[in-house]
Amino acid sequence: MPNAIQKEDGLYHSFCGLTCVGWLYQKIKDSFFLILGTHTCAHLLQNALGVMIFARPRFGVALMEETDLSKPQPELEALIDEIRADHKPSVIFLLSSCTPEVMKVEFDGLARHLSRPDLPVLFVPASGLDYTFSQAEDSVLQALLPFCPPAPPEDRRVVFLGSVNDSIADDFALEAARLGIPVAGFLPATHFHELPPIGPGTVLAPLQPYPAKVATRLARDRGATLLQSLFPFGPDGTRAFWEDLARMFGIDVDLREREAQAWARLATHTDLLRGKRVFFTADTLMELPLARFLRAAGCEIVECSSPYINKKFHARELAALEGVPVFEQPNFDRQLRTIAETQPDLVISTMGTTNPLIGQGVVAKWSTEFAFMPIHGWAGAGTLAGMFTKSLRRHARLDPLDD
Ligand code: SF4
Repeated sequence: MPNAIQKEDGLYHSFCGLTCVGWLYQKIKDSFFLILGTHTCAHLLQNALGVMIFARPRFGVALMEETDLSKPQPELEALIDEIRADHKPSVIFLLSSCTPEVMKVEFDGLARHLSRPDLPVLFVPASGLDYTFSQAEDSVLQALLPFCPPAPPEDRRVVFLGSVNDSIADDFALEAARLGIPVAGFLPATHFHELPPIGPGTVLAPLQPYPAKVATRLARDRGATLLQSLFPFGPDGTRAFWEDLARMFGIDVDLREREAQAWARLATHTDLLRGKRVFFTADTLMELPLARFLRAAGCEIVECSSPYINKKFHARELAALEGVPVFEQPNFDRQLRTIAETQPDLVISTMGTTNPLIGQGVVAKWSTEFAFMPIHGWAGAGTLAGMFTKSLRRHARLDPLDD
């Protein structure tokens, strides 16, 4: 029985899609991310990603002037040449931002114009007008789709969907081999020319809760099948993920024992989490699986809110949260009142709202951190649990009478 979603009128996002550059430029190692934006966008990247200029990061902002950018821009052409000479990328992602979108820049045409035969420039919609923090990864993956080779129907293998760091990706490849599940690759791949073949025999296994649109497109355009399971966060989600995936390949596995061992290793964390009341505002789209994991760990979820919920893509997570109040695009003023009334033990909130909440005496944690940490699968369960308990422990140390 799916959980009823209550939709409010809050801001669509709290952190714009440009932030996806922070993890994707490291994941796709021969890429360059070029943002056509303003000083605001440049400040966001500099402050949010904290990269020093001498590190020569593989991303940059082409600062735009208020002019007609719908025509070919010689400065951008020169910039592409400079990026090619300095970084030798295999692909350049051209990200939109708010101002050029308001000015109706024709990004598709601009990207085509800037592409070279051996260096594609791919348009990625990512502006803060439409895209929240992690959804722009979905846009990047959609831009990559034409470069995924077609696979014949008899090629029945899994493609893992959504970026995870290299050690977690290795862990998933090893686990699949252990269970006898054939792997075609990862989307995104570590290098542009290693994109996996995708066709009617492909099973898409989402590792992240945000690439809903690319999954829908792959099912529609390539006939791929989407795994309907929990996302692999925590022992409960990881067990469901692997058992359901194996079943799609005709393999029957029982991972109850493995799950029990994983929970046993988390005992110091679950001892602290049990009975705690946790509140998720909305930020990264990771809220549903994180809340589900905490509930399985013994927490009470006071509220779980997310900027965007896809009823099909998130169906299993919604079902697992039955009885929990779930909000899409929550109204933050209402949330502040609910927090004051219900006094949760821990609030997971955005970068902009966490510190003010802490200033009010609320125990709060940045949701942003979950997008950057290796928290997936069996290997990530300890890190995942520790991220919640660290905030509780730190608060208890600062205020021993409060515990
Ligand atoms: Fe701000 Fe928009 Fe630039 Fe994001 S894309 S930094 S929301 S101006």
